[in-house]
Amino acid sequence: MNQIALIIVAAGSSTRMGSQIKKEYLPLNEGTVLSETAHSFLKSAIFSSITIVIPESHELQAKKALYKNPKVNNLLLENNTSINFVIGGKTRQESVFNALTFLKKSNTKITHVLIHDGARPFISKEIIQDTIKNTIKYNASAPALIPTDTQKEIDENGFIKNHLIRKNLRAIQTPQGFNFDLIYESHSKANQDYKNNLYEFTDDTEIFDKYSNQKTYIFNGDPCNIKITYAKDLEILSNKNSTNNQKKETSMLRIGLGYDKHLLVENRKLIIAGIEIPFSKGEDGHSDGDAVLHAITDAVLGASHLGDIGSYFPDTDEKFKNADSRELLKCAWKQVKDNGWSLENLDIVIMLQEPKFLPYREKVISSIASTLNVENDRVFIKAKTGEKLGDVGKGNCIEVFASCLLSK
Ligand code: MG
Repeated sequence: MNQIALIIVAAGSSTRMGSQIKKEYLPLNEGTVLSETAHSFLKSAIFSSITIVIPESHELQAKKALYKNPKVNNLLLENNTSINFVIGGKTRQESVFNALTFLKKSNTKITHVLIHDGARPFISKEIIQDTIKNTIKYNASAPALIPTDTQKEIDENGFIKNHLIRKNLRAIQTPQGFNFDLIYESHSKANQDYKNNLYEFTDDTEIFDKYSNQKTYIFNGDPCNIKITYAKDLEILSNKNSTNNQKKETSMLRIGLGYDKHLLVENRKLIIAGIEIPFSKGEDGHSDGDAVLHAITDAVLGASHLGDIGSYFPDTDEKFKNADSRELLKCAWKQVKDNGWSLENLDIVIMLQEPKFLPYREKVISSIASTLNVENDRVFIKAKTGEKLGDVGKGNCIEVFASCLLSK
C-alpha cells in the first residue's frame, strides 16, 4: 500500500516580490496562495500528511493563510491527512532536507513523497495524479515544459558559449515525486557535501540524480503551473484570478422564456409595462392585462425554476382583479432575487399591429428596469406588426415573448 506524503516548500523570504507579505500569504480565490495550493492537492489525491516548510516564527501566519479557505480543513479531516509545520533553513536545499528528516523521524510509513513549491497555486489535478503515477512507476518523476524561448549557455563575460537544442531542453516544474527512502538518502548525502561547502542544489531532481544513481522521469507539465516569483507574476495571477472569478460568477447561468397573449377590446386601457399608451382598445384580462410584464414574470420565474405566474397570482383570485402587474412582477422578482439570482439581461418582442410602439420604447424600457431595480441597459424591447396576418395582424390581440438570462 502506497503512503504518499506531500511537502510544500514555503520557507523563502519573497524578497524578489518587493512585497512585505510573503507570496504564499497573498489573497487568491477563496483563500490565499498557500491555501489554494494545499486545496488543489487535497482534492486531487489522498496524502497521508502535508508538511509545510515555513520560516522561523511564521507558524501562526502560515496557519492563518492555510485555513483561510475552510475547504482545506474539511478535506484534511475527510481524508484523514495530518498537517505539520517544519522550520526551513537558509536555502531551499536545507528546507527540504529539514522536512524529509522530520518525516523520517515521524513514526509513519511513507513510501513516496511529492515536493511542491508553495508559490505554485495553479497546479492541476492531472499534473498531481501524473506525478504520483509516474513516481510509483519510476521512483522519481517531475513535470516540465519545453522552453518557448531558444536557450543559450553563456560564458562569464556574457557571450554565447553554447547554442542549446531547444527540443532537448526542459524547464522543470513541481511537484517532483520521489521514492521516499531514495530521496531521503540522496538528500542526506547532499547535506554532507553542502555542509562541507562542496555543492548547493536548488532542485531535488538534481540531488536525486547525483546521489541515487537513478534517473528522474520527465513528463509534460502545464504552462498554467506558474511559480509566483516577481511582482509581474502577481499581475498574471490577478488576471487569471479575475478570469477564474468571472468563470465562477457565470458558472450558474439560466435562460428563461415567457409568453403572453391578451385580447384587445374596447373600454380597456392599453398598458405596456405600466405605461399607458393612447389607443382605442386595450388588453382584456383579470388584472390590468399588461402582457409584457406577464411574459417577463414568467421568464424570470421559469429561469429560476420557481414556478409560473399562474401559480403565484391565479386569475381566479379576486385579490388580483385589475391588479397593477408591476406589483405582481416586483413580488415574483423578489422571490427570484431571494434565491440568489440576478438579471444579466432581458429581451422582449411585442407582436402588435397598432399603435406604433417605437415612440414609447425608451419609456417602457425605463419602466421595466425600475420595476426590476436594474440598469436600463439590461433591458431591450422591440415591436413587430403581424403583417396584417392572423389575430395579431387583424388587431385582435397583443402577443409578447420575453427571454431573460439570470446568473448566480
Ligand atoms: Mg397575462
